[in-house]
Amino acid sequence: MAPILEVQGLTAGFPSADGTARVLDGVEFAVEQGEILGIVGESGSGKTMTALSVLQLLPPSCRVEAGEILFRGNGLLALGGREMNAIRGEEISMIFQNPRSSLNPLFRVERTLAQVLRTHRGLKGAEARRASIELLVDVGLPDPERILRRYPHELSGGMCQRVMIAFALASNPKLLIADEPTTALDVTVQLQVIELLARLRREHGLTLVLITHNLSVVAELCDRVMVMYLGRIVEEGPVAEIFDHPRHPYTIGLLGSRPTLGDHGRLNAIPGSVPDLRERPGGCPFHPRCPHAKDVCAQERPAHEEVAPAHWTECHFWREVAA
Ligand code: SF4
Repeated sequence: MAPILEVQGLTAGFPSADGTARVLDGVEFAVEQGEILGIVGESGSGKTMTALSVLQLLPPSCRVEAGEILFRGNGLLALGGREMNAIRGEEISMIFQNPRSSLNPLFRVERTLAQVLRTHRGLKGAEARRASIELLVDVGLPDPERILRRYPHELSGGMCQRVMIAFALASNPKLLIADEPTTALDVTVQLQVIELLARLRREHGLTLVLITHNLSVVAELCDRVMVMYLGRIVEEGPVAEIFDHPRHPYTIGLLGSRPTLGDHGRLNAIPGSVPDLRERPGGCPFHPRCPHAKDVCAQERPAHEEVAPAHWTECHFWREVAA
């Protein structure tokens, strides 16, 4: 079966005084029907820009310079506003990091949910109410009648995120993109949201692109993971393979900087920070921060190499790094 989403050579950036500040640099991946793909990386790595480009929600000054995005075989970049509106929300839904700011504070949950159901499913009155209750039950909210009467400020963070997931599912989307859906929540609620997404995948065959900086969430939920750095995918593969046999120094750094029991607050952070997009290093973009960098790294961009079945990376020295 063809992938539900294919991104091919996507390159995008903001015009700047000395050229273009590139936010996506030849991004290329596919999402299969029913899979959960994790995208990880530090802030500024291009995770959210990748998601926004799929929905054509990039900031107005950000231009796509090259590439293609195919959703169920159809090119999205050539679509007009009306056609894209029909796909957004109806075929592809997105949930965001801060659910409370995504909900209209002036409307009760019932009113917003009814609007979504009317727009995308043509439901009104009692039918819309019945569907609203079903959705809230489906996302694990007890006493849905009471939740429908609530304003967003009367809900906890976890409840707000479940309501947002209900909104996102209201149109029966083929693909859900979740941008840091657990980041603003406390640890217990994070686990509940992860369990909810896992259950929705089991019960509804949800296809999900999950953007996160939390590798534990990826380990719990995802089938495959893509590691992004400065707008490029530097490593990708099945989750177990990447966690057990990371080949790129950046992935190794991310895995090593996870907090673990007994580390007494000391983390092995990756040295330095993601550079300004206008000062993108030549060669391998990670070389100024890489503990394995050699002269060639500053001059030549490494190839995208398959290092094990379905496991790809971009590093001149992946054999030595992994040894
Ligand atoms: Fe490090 Fe060089 Fe590999 Fe880049 S190519 S990750 S700088 S060793």
